[in-house]
Amino acid sequence: VYSREVESFAAKDDPVFRERAIDFADVELRLLQLLLGLQAESLDGVDRPAIIVARDLKPSDTAHLNRAFVRGFCTAEGGPLSHTAILARNLGLAAVVGAGEDLLAQVADDEPLVVDGTRGVVVVDATEAECLEYERRAAALAAVRASAEAASHEPAITLDGRRVEVVANIGLPGEEAEALQAGAEGIGLLRTEFLFVDRKTAPTETEHFNAYGAIFEAMGARPVVARTFDIGGDKPVGFLNMPREANPFLGWRAVRIGLAQPELLKTQMRALLRAAHGGDLKIMFPMIATAEEMQAARALYQEARAELLASGTPMAERVEVGTMIEVPSAAIIADQIAPCADFFSIGSNDLTQYTLAADRGNPAVASLFDSLHPAVLRLVDQVIRAAHAHGRWVGMCGEMAGDLTAIPVLLGLGLDEFSMGAASIPLAKALIRRLDVAETQALAQQALAQPGAPAVRELIVRWLTERQLL
Ligand code: PEP
Ligand code: MG
Repeated sequence: VYSREVESFAAKDDPVFRERAIDFADVELRLLQLLLGLQAESLDGVDRPAIIVARDLKPSDTAHLNRAFVRGFCTAEGGPLSHTAILARNLGLAAVVGAGEDLLAQVADDEPLVVDGTRGVVVVDATEAECLEYERRAAALAAVRASAEAASHEPAITLDGRRVEVVANIGLPGEEAEALQAGAEGIGLLRTEFLFVDRKTAPTETEHFNAYGAIFEAMGARPVVARTFDIGGDKPVGFLNMPREANPFLGWRAVRIGLAQPELLKTQMRALLRAAHGGDLKIMFPMIATAEEMQAARALYQEARAELLASGTPMAERVEVGTMIEVPSAAIIADQIAPCADFFSIGSNDLTQYTLAADRGNPAVASLFDSLHPAVLRLVDQVIRAAHAHGRWVGMCGEMAGDLTAIPVLLGLGLDEFSMGAASIPLAKALIRRLDVAETQALAQQALAQPGAPAVRELIVRWLTERQLL
């Protein structure tokens, strides 16, 4: 059974799912070892400072690394989306994955080695001077991390006094606790797809309501931006009988489904309004491409509200209704959408994918998929300017918002709210506190004028290095 599952995952088109094959193979191996009474090979016996070099590491190997001694690891195979890489990020371990076959031949036991996870580099024969320099950098990084974590519950106020909102992305109930612990000032993106996967019928209003209650309770008066369901595309839903599409990412997904099946969308919005009673709810729609869609979605929101009002049901007051900006058309006509949206939240993942016509999960076009490309930056700039001209605030909830390289430029472009995975919050806040808005504005203007993403990255890295912010 396991072999079948492993083969089926390994054959998937989507790299995120493809890389789950090793997770299954891992569980299979552990079970067989237990059943056969074999001693599992283990990395928890490492008893002195070490770097693990392997062809690949299974997630369970990574989970069992002896944290007291393992300083980092590098693997010849594997990708950045693998569980092993995700665990390394969460554990704060230096890691380089997918370094290539040569790595194994080049490294001998007990040889000194440098793993530079920031740059994705493995240095095999580092000179003494290089080692000293890396030790200095590692110590500086550890100190920055420690002080960022100690201050993670303080607000992020720039050197010249601008307060920037730093909030979290969550995708499952329960994650709000982690977000609060990391210093989130609210939720900037509550993904609600979890309610729709693996179901034969649509979730009921009660099911929606029960799922959201604990989140609003934990967040109290802090803002929660809930995104209505973003199903379809690569996340087909059984009960909708969706036709097979040639281009699912350009097909029937997200708010397009909600507008075609209004009851589905209104059910979710009624539940959100009820669950957020006494809280600070903001609702946004995914994949809005035109002003008419925004008007139609907003009209459905009004209907949902009126229905609750008619039945005397308690619900959230003063709810802002906005939209994600993640389709290039919406970014281009942001000035036409703004009158009908209370706020924007830029989905840089999809905005990058659609602007550069580069699938966000396809390694073959990974070098094209770069949110720092001036084409994406110019759209972000245009969206923020259009929103501010209409008195609207703008957030960002794509990966870019938590990227330390992108943050100075986004601040300089005038972004009001940064929403990111909880783990990124302490360092993002710490960086914002060390920035001066006027300086970032000059940097942002230079970034917009660069000929490509590598030039933008180089510019920012130089700028950060000059200010000793890297
Ligand atoms: C985005 O597209 O940037 C986004 C935040 O939405 P998702 O990643 O869920 O598509
Ligand atoms: Mg998106």
